[in-house]
Amino acid sequence: MELIELQRISKYYQTGDIQTPVLDEITLKIGRGEFVALMGPSGSGKTTLMNLLGCLDSPTGGHYWLDSEDVGAMNLEARARLRSMKIGFIFQNFNLLARTTALDNLLMPLTYSTEKISAAEAWKRAVSLLERVGLANRMDHEPSRLSGGQQQRVAIARSLMNRPPLIFADEPTGNLDSRTSEEVLALLETLNREEGVTIILVTHDENVARHARRIIRIRDGRVEADEVRLPPADFEQAPTIPSSPVGILSQLSETLSTSLTGLRRNTLRAALTALGIIIGIASVIAMMEIGNGSAKSIQRTVASMGANNLTVFPGSAASGGVSFGSGSVMTLTPEDVIAVSNECPAVRAAAPIVRSRTQVVFGNKNWVPSSIFGTTPAFLEIRDWSMSQGEMFTDRDVRNANKVCVLGQRIVKELFGEQNPIGKEIRINNVPFQVRGILSRKGANMMGMDQDDIVLAPWTAIKFRVSASALSNANQSAAAASNSNVNTLNKVYPGSTSLYPGRSESQVANNPLPVRFVNIDQILAVSTSAEAMPQAIAQITSVLRERHRLQPGEPDDFSIRDMTEVSKALSSTTTMMTNLLLVVALISLVVGGVGIMNIMLVSVTERTREIGLRMAVGASPARILQQFLTEAILLCFFGGAVGILIGRLTAILVSWLLRWPTEVSITAIVAAFAVSATVGILFGYYPAWKASRLDPISALRYE
Ligand code: ADP
Ligand code: MG
Repeated sequence: MELIELQRISKYYQTGDIQTPVLDEITLKIGRGEFVALMGPSGSGKTTLMNLLGCLDSPTGGHYWLDSEDVGAMNLEARARLRSMKIGFIFQNFNLLARTTALDNLLMPLTYSTEKISAAEAWKRAVSLLERVGLANRMDHEPSRLSGGQQQRVAIARSLMNRPPLIFADEPTGNLDSRTSEEVLALLETLNREEGVTIILVTHDENVARHARRIIRIRDGRVEADEVRLPPADFEQAPTIPSSPVGILSQLSETLSTSLTGLRRNTLRAALTALGIIIGIASVIAMMEIGNGSAKSIQRTVASMGANNLTVFPGSAASGGVSFGSGSVMTLTPEDVIAVSNECPAVRAAAPIVRSRTQVVFGNKNWVPSSIFGTTPAFLEIRDWSMSQGEMFTDRDVRNANKVCVLGQRIVKELFGEQNPIGKEIRINNVPFQVRGILSRKGANMMGMDQDDIVLAPWTAIKFRVSASALSNANQSAAAASNSNVNTLNKVYPGSTSLYPGRSESQVANNPLPVRFVNIDQILAVSTSAEAMPQAIAQITSVLRERHRLQPGEPDDFSIRDMTEVSKALSSTTTMMTNLLLVVALISLVVGGVGIMNIMLVSVTERTREIGLRMAVGASPARILQQFLTEAILLCFFGGAVGILIGRLTAILVSWLLRWPTEVSITAIVAAFAVSATVGILFGYYPAWKASRLDPISALRYE
């Protein structure tokens, strides 16, 4: 079969209701090695026929086989591949890529080729072709610095890059003077003679047609005459290049570098286009970091008010249907505290509390603090409380039941006035305790209770030395209510032996109580965060139920209280803030995205001819789509990266200048990248799709 076979090809254009017939049942065969001149008056259909032959257009009727392949049955993708592999184009107006060197113009068709070729090989091939057309010393020149004849020679070299067996030239000398024309035609003749390249040349000039071996004359869409002047060039058939599918990775990197080049050609515009995204992302990042910082500091403030605290109370006893109220049985032990702090991941720390309400005396002053807490040093961490002076007692003090204590500010004021209490001894229920330190001021709690009216001591000391009620199951508050421990006028001899005395200190020391009988009044715990509260409660519940050997279905013998309302208020504030930020972020990103879409659309219009050219040399619509989409995504990524940088800088500046708390948000940074890529895809898709839908012929003609 011949290289080209046409059977009754016809073509007409439809404009409204009017049909303009251009080609009328053309039947034609062109063999390998021929040099054909298509001649005819202007408007006779030469260009239309050539576009059909070049697989840029499809006929209205008839059949076309190129190298034994039925072109009519091919889709756009397959035709693009065919153009890339078998056809080279030379245009009247050269159609070189502007602001691109001659060498890079030559390399462009390889981007879309299915042939696997290394960068070094490609470079070598381009250089040797430029040498061949006599432009070895103009490789780095851009088209604007080349003469018309030189530009056309670059275009001829470009058409040869994919080593096609077939070259179409539409009025290649139309824009050249007669001497340059002769040079270009001589070049084509050499190609035909020495390499057997089949050349189909469209011209209306007899002098040009003289160079061809065969002249086909067309008039009104019909073949009017077909004159063979010379037989086809005799040559050894060049082996067809085996085409292999190019790896998706190398294709992607090609697309990436093409897109980068496209963007670099107009750096300022690219930067301005990305400005919307930059501002959007920067403001999101800055706001996220500042917002996170203030959320954290609010959280800390609320946490110091005790929002993350949990209190476990012993359960109530019921006897014959009569409940004695919460705390009427002592079910909590010091071991429960250890278990809670060790076995509950959502619990950051836990401490026991043994309460006492009794009189504290220093010198001639006395005072009944609202809280005397026996606890461990962990108490301070749980309550987020610090020392203002001196030190907290230690775990060792707790183990040894040492008589040491730390005082709240109120007690210091009431008992010591201006004196320094550290190292002094106060008497708690007549037991001497050495003051180790002073707590920082905390003020009233949410219930209006003065939190500084407090004495902290090792729980062992309070339990065994002050309360001395380790054996009794009596409720502490009940004991306190009786006021029996407070010096009043009714009790003239406060130190006198009662009827059933508690154990003396030496008795306690000699006969330590069996540990399992020791009870504590409360367990104070703190969850790792406000969000972890429910988990902490669940974990404490399951640990305590197991320790207390409660069967399923049996009620808890303890109860847990938390400050649900406070933590709810906190989390609703943070959620609102986050949502607000999200809305702002979305708006700014949509604005940025529209900006990108706008500029991309302009860019597609502006580069219509470039798109047409890329399609002519073998770019499939999918590749064009890929390229413009990549450009949009690159722009967005660039905008995102710069935006993140600016946002971070703003946050750093704000925390530095205004002393606002900020916090780096990795989530925000990752999200910013994801979002900018998404914006690129969403808003870049339409322009890219528009570019890929362009018709190569009208794109090439676009002014
Ligand atoms: P030429 O032989 O000068 O290259 P063309 O092939 O370009 O002629 O055009 C042949 C005829 O087809 C002309 O009359 C032209 O008006 C018409 N034609 C070409 N392209 C279109 C089109 N896209 N829509 C309608 N008519 C067209
Ligand atoms: Mg024409």
